[in-house]
Amino acid sequence: MIIPIYGYGEPVLRQVGEEITPNYPNLSAIIANMYDTMYNAYGVGLAAPQVGLPIRLFVIDTEPFSDSDNLTKEEQQQLKNFKQTFINAKILKEEGELWGFNEGCLSIPDVREDVYRNERITIEYCDENFNKKTEVFDGLIARVIQHEYDHIEGILFTDHLTILKKTLIKKKLQNIMDGKAFPDYRMKFANKKGR
Ligand SMILES: [Zn+2]
Repeated sequence: MIIPIYGYGEPVLRQVGEEITPNYPNLSAIIANMYDTMYNAYGVGLAAPQVGLPIRLFVIDTEPFSDSDNLTKEEQQQLKNFKQTFINAKILKEEGELWGFNEGCLSIPDVREDVYRNERITIEYCDENFNKKTEVFDGLIARVIQHEYDHIEGILFTDHLTILKKTLIKKKLQNIMDGKAFPDYRMKFANKKGR
């Protein structure tokens, strides 16, 4: 089921997510809804706060990135097959060079900016069956995880921008809060009822 995505300015996007247990109410339905909602909006990741839940849960499917140019065949294959649910994630280590990538966010439609992040992460998390894993990721997969992980820490990609860039997008962010954004998926806006 497709559910509304909470827009920039919604307080839940600023909450630090709580850890959950396997008994969290309707968890498998929530996860299924998050995938439906992400695919419907052509996103590569979606975090629980973006659907109004302040919990440490996010889903990723990097398949849409797999046909980007300037990737090796191996990278394309990795991106094509990477679909993963992350529960109670904790990034243990971020390392390697900082590299820039033009990021966007389903909660912040029509805003795209270069964000600099470390190239490699070590992350501990549980999958949807609460099997605990520790894994190392790099490149675009690490990038998407870092973006979604920020969401469960109450951080948005726009927080990483320079003061100048933040000033330049201020009006766009205000428009999103006021509901003056019109992506082709359902959203819930901070200063506007329903839609
Ligand atoms: Zn996002």
